[in-house]
Amino acid sequence: MEISIWDHARYVKDRSNPYPEMAAMLRRFAKAGISRTDIYLPEVGNLDAYCAAAAEAGMTVEARLHPQHAMEQPPMRVLTEAQRQRMKQEQGIVLEAPCPCHPEFERQLAAAAERVLAQYGDRLMGLQLDFIRGPNARCLLDYPCGCEACRAARQRYYGFEMPPEAVLREPWYLYKETARLSAHVRSTVIAVAAVTHRFGRKLSMAARSNYANCHGGLGPAVLEGQDWAEWATDGLLDEIIPMNYHTIHEYFVDNLQAHLRLMAGTSVKFTSGVARESSMGLLPPSEFRRRFEAMSSLGVQSAFIFNKTNIYPDEYLSIIQEYATAIK
Ligand SMILES: [Zn+2]
Repeated sequence: MEISIWDHARYVKDRSNPYPEMAAMLRRFAKAGISRTDIYLPEVGNLDAYCAAAAEAGMTVEARLHPQHAMEQPPMRVLTEAQRQRMKQEQGIVLEAPCPCHPEFERQLAAAAERVLAQYGDRLMGLQLDFIRGPNARCLLDYPCGCEACRAARQRYYGFEMPPEAVLREPWYLYKETARLSAHVRSTVIAVAAVTHRFGRKLSMAARSNYANCHGGLGPAVLEGQDWAEWATDGLLDEIIPMNYHTIHEYFVDNLQAHLRLMAGTSVKFTSGVARESSMGLLPPSEFRRRFEAMSSLGVQSAFIFNKTNIYPDEYLSIIQEYATAIK
């Protein structure tokens, strides 16, 4: 099985001279059979040192683009004070995120891809899109964005800029707002893929595990404009990695089976995301091994591991090594 990891390089203590710590960590990963690392650009600190350390360890590097951090001036969703207060009351948070429907979203994300590849393209195998969607499905429709682009689009389609409370649950409104968001996110993926492919590099994405009706409180992707099953059908990018981080094994397997069903017959590479430790919890080694057993028995050939600390005790690395080197 091909095994990759998401890395933040948060383990680096001496930020002024990160190479030795990066090299030691990446050598350890490579020794366990991990062949690719995906580095989170906002936290890497020194991408030159990281790429050099990975090359020395014999690993390929992919760079992760997170829209809000990658763009120079992200067009944030516009909420009124009343919407903010209501969101805080009802959801416990005020979700701040860029608006994919604003034309600057696509333009600036494509420009960010161009910047990264112009400088590091010779050392990267490609880019990975993270958070390529509207924020949180529940917050999108209940707290509509009031940016100039959303207002203008609604004025055209419905004759009002902001929806009166009474239409928020109307099927025609829900359909068109979701379709409008999906169209913008999709065209952003196409724009970033065009840049990536111009540099001769690959584009992957970290996808919502809950596509439509899978287990999990987050998503569903289809309501957030992230219709990755259709993107796979249309071959818009090279690889899709659903972030299947369930701590309940049966949910992990159910979701994995759904992902395999959604990706079947498409030309896009499928890689299963799996977590050692995420916001959902920490898997003990025995459970971590069960995930790999399940992936292996379902014929998964590529896995991407998320681990929020990026630190892997030896017992986890030995499980990884077992599956990385297993003969298929
Ligand atoms: Zn907007």
